[in-house]
Amino acid sequence: MPALYVHVPFCASVCPYCDFATMAAPPRLHGEWLSTLRREALAWRERPVGEFDWGKSRFDTLYFGGGTPSILDGPVLADAVEAVRGAFEVDSVEATIEANPDDVSPERIALWKELGFTRVSLGVQSLDDRTLRAIGRVHDRARALSALSLLLDSGLSVTADLMFALPGQSAAEFLSGLRELLATGVPHLSFYGLGLEGKTLFAQRAARGELGVDEEIYAECYSRGVELCAEAGLARYELSNFARPGFESRHNRAYWRGEPYLGLGPGAHGYDGRSLRFSNPKSFPAWRAAVLAGEPAPERDPLGPLERFEEAVWLGLRLAEGFEPETVAALSPEPNAAARLMERAGPWIARGALERVGGRLRLRGDGWLLLDEIAPALFPEN
Ligand code: SF4
Repeated sequence: MPALYVHVPFCASVCPYCDFATMAAPPRLHGEWLSTLRREALAWRERPVGEFDWGKSRFDTLYFGGGTPSILDGPVLADAVEAVRGAFEVDSVEATIEANPDDVSPERIALWKELGFTRVSLGVQSLDDRTLRAIGRVHDRARALSALSLLLDSGLSVTADLMFALPGQSAAEFLSGLRELLATGVPHLSFYGLGLEGKTLFAQRAARGELGVDEEIYAECYSRGVELCAEAGLARYELSNFARPGFESRHNRAYWRGEPYLGLGPGAHGYDGRSLRFSNPKSFPAWRAAVLAGEPAPERDPLGPLERFEEAVWLGLRLAEGFEPETVAALSPEPNAAARLMERAGPWIARGALERVGGRLRLRGDGWLLLDEIAPALFPEN
């Protein structure tokens, strides 16, 4: 079943490493976002894009991401939820809202529950105040821990985000924060290394040679982090995601398994599950103009057979369950594709970075740190 994503493009301030569609905007713009979102949701019912019938389908999951959706005040958030639930049929099994620690309070939690959210994704990023300041976060360690404690007591499902390989951060510091988070009993965690892409302030500093990622620290944080999660009962089910059994994100798994998903809001992406990826402009005015012109998701990226195959390999390798080579090879235009794929996988299997288990091909050992090398090595040569 498809997944539904709603992008809220507002934050208290913009972090110097952030490449998402977001801005520190006055609340006046929240209302404009809401009225545009309403139109966009209705437009999808009338003018669907791609080979999937969005208007007639039941969505399995709902995800309010950003930006910082928790920044929205009660009436705006309630109207936004009503707008999407009014336009589409959405199951209530998993509805996630992303939150910044500063926005979490008993009143907000009660509101989110009342609006049908079942899961909160908390942006902790670090439990070290100096590191939080270095990456421009507005919350501090104490706020992150108290927000997490409130959420864990609330009966909602909770996940927390951490980052590693941050400026001035040692592996020991990251791992100590991770240990502390795991000790809270949080059932789901994501951790990501700092990315230095796009036009962010950090990316500009990296281009000037003022900032970089230490590969050794990166590898230690990731490998030791995976072990700590496993010791605490949180299995890696995707490259950067760890959960107790039954707490895996259904919504994100739809992305990785190549299922259809629809994204609303500036910069949001979608996929018809077959041959078309589409997205909205990242800039708020351009998104608004497209919606007002009755043209949802004006950016289209049709996928040919080879692209579908390559995407299925990339996404399948991210998952601990891996992928079935025969099923994925069936997408490829290459003659004898399954056998050729396994031939190319051979050297990686021999060195212990890939394995074939139960008919599936998946990453193994230090292969998890080599995804960017292994996936392209499985593609046919041009
Ligand atoms: S809070 Fe999150 S979405 Fe907002 S600017 Fe910072 S990293 Fe980006």
